[in-house]
Amino acid sequence: MTEMPNILWLEAISKDDIPLVGGKGASLGEMTSIGLPVPKAFVVTAQAFRKFLVQTGLEDSLFDLLTAVDVENSEELEDVSRNVKDMVLGAKMPEDVKEEIISAYGAMGPDDMVVAVRSSATAEDLPDASFAGQQETYLNIRGDAAVIEAVQMCWASLYGARAIYYRAKQGFDDRTVNIAVVVQQLIRSEKSGVMFSSHPVTGEPLTIIEGSWGLGEAVVSGSVSPDKYVYDRRLKRVFDRMVSKKEYMIVPIGDHGTELVDIPKDRQDEPVLSDTEVEQLAAFAETSEEHYNVPQDLEWAIVGNTIYILQSRPITTIGMNTKAKGAGASQNTGAVLLEGNGASPGVASGPVIIVHDIKDLGKVKEGDILVAKMTNPDMVPAMRKVAGIITDEGGMTCHAAIVSRELGTPAVVGTKKATKTLKDGDIVTLDGEKGIVYEGATSQAVAPAVVMAAGASGAAVAAAPIITATSIKVNVSLAEAAARAAATGADGVGLLRIEHMILGLNKTPGWYISQNKEEEFITELYNGIKVVLDAFPGKPVWVRTLDAPTDEFRNMLGGETEPIEHNPMLGWRGIRRDLQSPAQFRMQIEAFKRLWDRGYDNLGLMFPLVGHPEEFLKAKELIAGWGVDVDAVELGVMIEIPSSAILIEDFCKAGISFASFGTNDLIQYTLAIDRNNELVSSMYRPKHPAVLKLIRDAIAVCRQYGVECSICGQAGSDPKMVEWLIENGITSVSANIDAVPKIRETAARTEKRMILDAVRLKNA
Ligand code: PEP
Ligand code: MG
Repeated sequence: MTEMPNILWLEAISKDDIPLVGGKGASLGEMTSIGLPVPKAFVVTAQAFRKFLVQTGLEDSLFDLLTAVDVENSEELEDVSRNVKDMVLGAKMPEDVKEEIISAYGAMGPDDMVVAVRSSATAEDLPDASFAGQQETYLNIRGDAAVIEAVQMCWASLYGARAIYYRAKQGFDDRTVNIAVVVQQLIRSEKSGVMFSSHPVTGEPLTIIEGSWGLGEAVVSGSVSPDKYVYDRRLKRVFDRMVSKKEYMIVPIGDHGTELVDIPKDRQDEPVLSDTEVEQLAAFAETSEEHYNVPQDLEWAIVGNTIYILQSRPITTIGMNTKAKGAGASQNTGAVLLEGNGASPGVASGPVIIVHDIKDLGKVKEGDILVAKMTNPDMVPAMRKVAGIITDEGGMTCHAAIVSRELGTPAVVGTKKATKTLKDGDIVTLDGEKGIVYEGATSQAVAPAVVMAAGASGAAVAAAPIITATSIKVNVSLAEAAARAAATGADGVGLLRIEHMILGLNKTPGWYISQNKEEEFITELYNGIKVVLDAFPGKPVWVRTLDAPTDEFRNMLGGETEPIEHNPMLGWRGIRRDLQSPAQFRMQIEAFKRLWDRGYDNLGLMFPLVGHPEEFLKAKELIAGWGVDVDAVELGVMIEIPSSAILIEDFCKAGISFASFGTNDLIQYTLAIDRNNELVSSMYRPKHPAVLKLIRDAIAVCRQYGVECSICGQAGSDPKMVEWLIENGITSVSANIDAVPKIRETAARTEKRMILDAVRLKNA
């Protein structure tokens, strides 16, 4: 038998070499072979690692320890992991392997090149087993000794406690698991980002590129609002360009780690990419899509005039900032551990991390399954990282449900006991469609094509657009979700919940006022809303004024002065609070006014929790007093208190431009069922006859007065309910991002059926 090499350069590797170089190494090799500009790299093969184990005599003693460990005993697991890692780190690397690594490293460049040393694990019997994220990567490595040390550290990381636990739970024999190590030139990108080779929803040949200054983590993690460029591959031209305000970037610090730094003012609004760069990037995206025969999700970086492609993989979800989440229904055969409400579709597997309070947030890692009693606004940064979310409390309209849907992260809420049943490190799979949590990792392969995108079931690639007479809009809460929302092709935004933008700042509006920092608040709000307006040029965006119950403000800076209410849902929220706190109202209006002044006449304002037309008139009067031409802008109300549905005619006479049913609240206030209380969630019935009567009567009055009538509560994402609403005359529907395709299809089908019914009736 010919001896397997210790070292392989990317140029010599193809996708069939996984057993030798692991999944990561094989993918980089394949990308290189099709001419993508991958940063220089070589791989220390899995065979070099086996040779190390055999020649050092470690093999038997090490595997004996691993076979004997009780992985459920976390102390014992930690001890064995530490011992085995020490054994690997303390043993001497075979001379020939060492020499070959040093010579390959020397061949990378004249001076000692700064490299990243990455683990690429593989299993003999299942070459494509995904061990992603369980072994280490070391960045900013330089010099022979440091490279050798980092390779050995990667080898040792195969025996981290988490990795041993995962393999034991998945039934892998440690003897069959190997590790290769990629040593790759580290790119200190001046600008970087992600791109989709084709439109992620329709499959059209439109390359969508997001980019920002500095290292790519800023875009991938969603911590900045990147620029967005759309390149039409048929017409070979830049089709759309949205330049955002980029306030932060991630840069390397010295030889270790990275840090977040402010971007100088003069570069914040500067476009990251020139048209030529957009064109070049799109060409690489196209090469990759043609080679793999499926739309690709790529990471890119630019230094000076050189473009690098860092990663290319099939698009698995409709979102930008994707985290390789699963899609469709699970085919898991593990035991059912928990049941709750399927709050955000998609399937995700991973280790559980229980978050009791803010102290636990630091422990949350990329790919974890976040488990909490209920999520709250200070958890949003952690919610961005995780693969899935499970809560004890809440229904389809709770904080966790709304934010997960925005982020495109599968979620199951209202399981009643997840924080008690599950333990840190348990491997689970959740199905965010069915609302079930299973034991173990999913057996389902992640769907490779965009047609399987979460919630987009039935959306055919490159299908003709569906035209509906009913406007199908989308709900948005986070600026970072704007691109995903716009990619649905929605006819506008029927609800922009701005409180999530404010809650994410972790300071209450009252804090800004007490610190005389109103300007900061106004700027944040202005920038956040602008991102959404820019994503929907020429389409209406209904921005809702603040509506956060006092308890949601409690943990924030300034939260200590928030009143303690017996029932915050019935208390000081929505327009009631703004009318009693003109200073808070005024800051918001100032941000809107500046946007109107800049020409964003697609911005309409919507007031929440209005119970009487006088509140609408009072709000309008205040706004006019602050210099807004109230007759030139659209001002509407949410119908979410039964009193406003009953008094709809008076609202129409008071001059509302539109009304939108906030059924999440309308149902709870009509039926006296707390929307966040899972004990009564079975009685929370959107189609309760009393709710339907309020809605039907109010739609009829709006039609009589020619007032646009819409829905933005969760019921607007339910096809059955939407069918009923259209039959009863609603003029627009605003759904969650994931639900837009199916709601559009429902609307088209319902409209056609109604026309057909009318014709048949006439001909009968
Ligand atoms: C509603 O009440 O239906 C609504 C859309 O508002 P929120 O869920 O933010 O209360
Ligand atoms: Mg509401």
